[in-house]
Amino acid sequence: MLVTQAYRFALDPSPRQERGLWSHAGAARFAWNWGLAACRDRYDAEGKWWSGVELHRLWNRVKKTDPGLGWWGEHSKCVHQEAFRDLDRALRGFVRARKGLRKGRRPGFPRFKKRGRCRDSFRFGSGVMRCSGRTVTLPRLGTIATHESTRKLARRLENGTARILSATVSRTAHRWFVSFTVQVDRNVLGRHARPGTIVGVDLGVTTLLTGVDDHGAEIEVGGPKALRAGLRKLQRLGKAHARAQRGSANRAKAAKRLARHHARVAAVRADALHKATSTLAARYETVVVEDLNVTGMLANRRLAGAVADQGFGAVRRMLDYKTGWNGGRLVVADRWFPSSKTCSGCGGRKPSLSLSERTFRCDACGLVLGRDVNAAINLRNLAASGAERRNACGGDVRPGPAGRPPAKQEPGTAHHAGETGTAAAQATAIWTADAHIRSWFR
Ligand SMILES: [Zn+2]
Repeated sequence: MLVTQAYRFALDPSPRQERGLWSHAGAARFAWNWGLAACRDRYDAEGKWWSGVELHRLWNRVKKTDPGLGWWGEHSKCVHQEAFRDLDRALRGFVRARKGLRKGRRPGFPRFKKRGRCRDSFRFGSGVMRCSGRTVTLPRLGTIATHESTRKLARRLENGTARILSATVSRTAHRWFVSFTVQVDRNVLGRHARPGTIVGVDLGVTTLLTGVDDHGAEIEVGGPKALRAGLRKLQRLGKAHARAQRGSANRAKAAKRLARHHARVAAVRADALHKATSTLAARYETVVVEDLNVTGMLANRRLAGAVADQGFGAVRRMLDYKTGWNGGRLVVADRWFPSSKTCSGCGGRKPSLSLSERTFRCDACGLVLGRDVNAAINLRNLAASGAERRNACGGDVRPGPAGRPPAKQEPGTAHHAGETGTAAAQATAIWTADAHIRSWFR
């Protein structure tokens, strides 16, 4: 089965190559700004703008006559072309959003990119793109060493099970990365190796994720030690940056240090999430997660940092394709499914539960359970009851006036037999089955 997949490698360029990377990023930025100015001028005059293809044609005409653009030949022509394509997409996105056809945060009219303030990145849509062992080869830039091994992709390219569609080069803090979009002929399992297995996963603020499976075993991924230590250091560097005098050299240095460390923490987190989601998808046929309103949560400033750090959206995306590869499925609970407020023992629902309450205490049946564990059990039970919605796209419809999906109507009916509502029974089940599962995540 053909799937489109990304392979991302950190580059280790020579000083000359690094200058080439900066220069290409500059060319992409220039092309974007040039195209945007052209579109704006045309819009003012004629009420419409240029498409990506038209811009490229226009550019090809202008670049030879305008002496100010004499340097265009130093860069791969792809870089301009792809920048125009991006601009085209951004303009279309803006129109779609204005018509109300687009979900999520509404993008504004595309803006000019400013050196040092925008993301440094450019893309190759064609040309020689290869990799072998510890290098990648890109148009114009030639063969660049990588920090990590590119062997896995190289082998796929060699035996013909992969084809590179495009390469995006970008900079994060001090490091350049290349991300290949690759069409891979993958061996996708038609059936999951362990049919019938279910795990409910709660994406947490304090732990990365908490899962409870159909046997009551608890899986907790708290994130590696390096991540926790990294987050503390991030806080420290953030404070140092905020305290430094605005516009001073010290502030600039602090900003650089902060950005560098931020990139490191993000890499550690992504690695932990990749490992955890791979294991979950391989181990369970059905994985149930919440449909968190990430856009809404990011608007809430107190939550924003923690949410963005955990990368909720990223976990969902990873689980989505990884369950697919393993022949399983991802179930996304309705946005208004009260997974945290519902008692997993008796099905009763709390009117309110503040985010600071880390322990769930049921007033009706006396259940005392970790907040995340309780939520994970509810999610797992939701899939078992068959009342779930398959994907996130339909999550905007608010369920009936009661605000509860059908799965939770009658207290006491939604949870599994054999899983009594007492805290003690839950705890033992978790403890025994937990031991060996925990070991995979270490
Ligand atoms: Zn209860």
